[in-house]
Amino acid sequence: MPENAATTLQEKITQRLRFYKDLGLDQFYRDRGTTPRVAFPQVETTSISNEEFTLPKASPKSVAPVSAAKLPAPAAPAVPDLFAATNRIAGDTLPIVRADLGECTRCKLHTTRKKIVFGDGSASAKLVFVGEGPGADEDAQGLPFVGRAGKLLTQMIEAMGLQRGDVYICNVVKCRPPGNRQPEKDEVEACSPFLYRQLDVLQPKVIVCLGATAAQTLLQTNRGISHFRGEWLDYRGYKMMATYHPAYLLRNPAAKGDVWKDLQKVMAELGLEVKKPKAK
Ligand code: SF4
Repeated sequence: MPENAATTLQEKITQRLRFYKDLGLDQFYRDRGTTPRVAFPQVETTSISNEEFTLPKASPKSVAPVSAAKLPAPAAPAVPDLFAATNRIAGDTLPIVRADLGECTRCKLHTTRKKIVFGDGSASAKLVFVGEGPGADEDAQGLPFVGRAGKLLTQMIEAMGLQRGDVYICNVVKCRPPGNRQPEKDEVEACSPFLYRQLDVLQPKVIVCLGATAAQTLLQTNRGISHFRGEWLDYRGYKMMATYHPAYLLRNPAAKGDVWKDLQKVMAELGLEVKKPKAK
């Protein structure tokens, strides 16, 4: 790279880092990627009905043939924007992310896990639920939210007029913390880049964080969930709602009403029918 271009790129990165630091953001990840980067067709986003809860088909624009004489001169190579709103790796897919995770030993949770719980659901889901980490049932089966809390989550999804297969479900950490303790900071830091990649591949219309750990990880905050539960939040351009974890609801059934209010906001955002309570 010519010296001037290198200086320009360095200044640009320095300025951008200062800008993010002013916003309170000081942690970034960038996966090197192992696959060739290819252009993705634009995907149209439209509102969806309850009956049609799938991503619309990609519709590449038809391009009229242009004679070589009319082609513009090749432009100078663009300076890459390392901190664009999305870090999506072109060509990334859920199977590629899973393959990159491999038989992971990046944090100490690998020593006690039985199975990695990567995620489950539709690769074209408009709605993604993010929990904290696998429990004993999930660790045994390799699937997220299959224990008692998982059954309650399934009921919540069905109450929204959806099926589990319509959504995608994953966790911040992919291995069970011993004794179902909260994942520790170094474990979250080691595992969360794979969550970020999953979300960038899925590009959901709405992310629902189940519990404080998921919300704090995506928002990069230590604030308690009560500060932002039930409000629309922004995670790098994705609409995000934080609500209570189903395991919390099993211990505190009185909080189910709050969660249902949050899910009704999500339903409205997704164009799902929000049923009004019957008059008594
Ligand atoms: S929790 Fe995540 S980073 Fe840690 S070993 Fe499991 S997959 Fe790897």
